[in-house]
Amino acid sequence: MKAIKGREQRFTGHPVSPGIGIGPVHEATEPPLAITARALDEDDIAPELERLDEALTRSRHQLQKLKNRLAQLPEDSQAEIAPLMDVYLHMLGPSRLLRGVRARIETSRLCAEAAMQAEAETQAEAILALPGPDRAGKQRRADEVRELARRVVRNLTRQPFRSFASLPQGAVLAAESLRPADAALIQPAQIAGVITAEGGIEGHSAVMLRALGLPAVLGAAGVLEAAAPGALAILDGDSGEIILNPTRASLDTARARLAEQAKARRALSRLSRLPAETRDGTHVELQANLELPFELAMIARSGAHGIGLLRSEFMFMNRPEAPDEDTQTRIYRDIVEAMDGDPVTIRVLDWGSDKEVEALSQYLPATPETNPALGLRGIRLLLRHPHLLETQLAAILRAAAFGPVRIMLPMVSVAAEITETREILKKLWRRLKRRGGIALPDELPPLGIMVETPAAALAAPVLARHADFFAIGTNDLTMYTLAADRGMPLSAQLYDPLEPAVLRLIHMTASFAGTAGIPVSLCGELASRPRVSALLLGLGVRQFSMHGNAIPRVKQAIRATTLPACQALAERALGAESAEQVRALLEGE
Ligand code: PEP
Ligand code: MG
Repeated sequence: MKAIKGREQRFTGHPVSPGIGIGPVHEATEPPLAITARALDEDDIAPELERLDEALTRSRHQLQKLKNRLAQLPEDSQAEIAPLMDVYLHMLGPSRLLRGVRARIETSRLCAEAAMQAEAETQAEAILALPGPDRAGKQRRADEVRELARRVVRNLTRQPFRSFASLPQGAVLAAESLRPADAALIQPAQIAGVITAEGGIEGHSAVMLRALGLPAVLGAAGVLEAAAPGALAILDGDSGEIILNPTRASLDTARARLAEQAKARRALSRLSRLPAETRDGTHVELQANLELPFELAMIARSGAHGIGLLRSEFMFMNRPEAPDEDTQTRIYRDIVEAMDGDPVTIRVLDWGSDKEVEALSQYLPATPETNPALGLRGIRLLLRHPHLLETQLAAILRAAAFGPVRIMLPMVSVAAEITETREILKKLWRRLKRRGGIALPDELPPLGIMVETPAAALAAPVLARHADFFAIGTNDLTMYTLAADRGMPLSAQLYDPLEPAVLRLIHMTASFAGTAGIPVSLCGELASRPRVSALLLGLGVRQFSMHGNAIPRVKQAIRATTLPACQALAERALGAESAEQVRALLEGE
């Protein structure tokens, strides 16, 4: 790092993990990795394969050790990083990567480190070239392959790894980039925050830093060159700003904000014990969405009353085959028991379209669909493969013996999808009873649907005759209503859940559910925006499900309003001409 002493300088990066960090900058560089490609003679091949095996064993031990170390980290981060370690360990087993490396040593006669680097690069490129819109997911998988290859190469060539051991207490850790396995080595109590020159919002490292609760700004180009070792830095994990060599005034402002944040955090945690109700006493139910089981601890702290959306896709990820009935039962049962009497709404597998699940790729249509979002996904795909649906439903029924459970179907557009599923559910119920010796609930759990297509919203009065509850999924409802894909740059401008067309469908669904006397909740991202809470209440929704972290702020917003104010706001929003106008209304509140 080159010193430009004294002068205050500002940089901007991606705000990855919220909070203010103040401390002296210390760079933890990754030692360079040099590879010399050597060609092998015939006689060298067997010893080279042995050399590779030794390095693989060493890598396996290191990762195992890292996994054991995780026990010292907060529970959330353990659960975030442990599956990643398993992905690495899996690649060190009989994987495609290693088959490719061995083939390169045997047939191309490359030395092990060059073979490893070349094969990893080929596979990473192949992953990135896969069709499908999940760019971030593909990047992440490609990075995983490259990262593991680097570890093996270091072990093959005995080149050193990066270490954080010498960082002084309270330092701001600076690095060109940060790998997830590095992030796992950080002791959160030891440092004030993290800044890097490369990296973004997506990716394991970002998730890890958030889980560790460490303020972090990634991808701030130029910051490393400008920071002298030990120079004071302020990083703002909410705005993405980094200030090097702050002036007295900047430092005072940052310190005041740090104190303010601590105070706000305390106030929000006190909120978890207060009811979610408007000033005039309308009760609102706040539930949590669960995407990965490790979120349970955070959900317990959030003050959520149950799980309004359990996305069951995680059970099918990072594994070669779909889990069997017993495995699924165990996973659901653990969650149901952890919720200790609060309801758990389990959504059956929602896959297809942009949601790729490796273990199930064999079930996707042989010829890729031209319009996957309009094709086989969610309940459509499950009804085509009843054994997958049956295994999942049977496991859910069994878990329902241990606490209140609701079953939810994704991507419903017509009533037949509900009636067919209900028939399957009843058949399974009889079959499980016949099997004997299996704990089952006294009654069939409620069977409800996601309202995420305009068809479902428009047909709500009919669907309500067959469904026991509705959950409005505004993420997909917005996409299908506006015919705009969030992932595509041009249509992303159109994608806006505040468009009056979308609000009207929310309002209709809530009113129809009210008339039919069935519960309705809203579980898309919109539910987690406190600025929108009053509008949604005004549209008739009284139950929300969101990321657990968002619950305290949404509760605060609900407690600050009254029902007549919400209804007046909703009326004006429904009459607005654009999302812009709706936003202006919300800002005026
Ligand atoms: C939605 O579409 O709003 C929803 C909650 O489902 P997902 O985000 O899992 O598609
Ligand atoms: Mg959806």
